[in-house]
Amino acid sequence: MTVLLDGTVLVCPNCDLRTFKRVQVAPGEGTAEFHHCPALGILAPLVPEGTLCKVEKHEREDYEGLDAGALTLDQTGRPIASVVTTRENGQDCAVFAPVAKVVV
Ligand SMILES: [Zn+2]
Repeated sequence: MTVLLDGTVLVCPNCDLRTFKRVQVAPGEGTAEFHHCPALGILAPLVPEGTLCKVEKHEREDYEGLDAGALTLDQTGRPIASVVTTRENGQDCAVFAPVAKVVV
């Protein structure tokens, strides 16, 4: 007996990760599934298999100032501001904003 599971194969365009999730996502749609990508060195989104896209990290371009220590760094130590998924029908962006600090 073969059991067919309803779901989607999710892949990373930058590394060889391939996983199955029990959610229905059509190619070309975004997901909320992320993984620690060894190729990008940061948390990066997975996309449904068959999606024509690119996933890129963008370095923080402004002064680190008091945010140093609260920033997301890649495997080379560079501060990363966001990771952007660009598909033929749009973009998704995950921002790595440092959190506010309060001294009491
Ligand atoms: Zn990856």
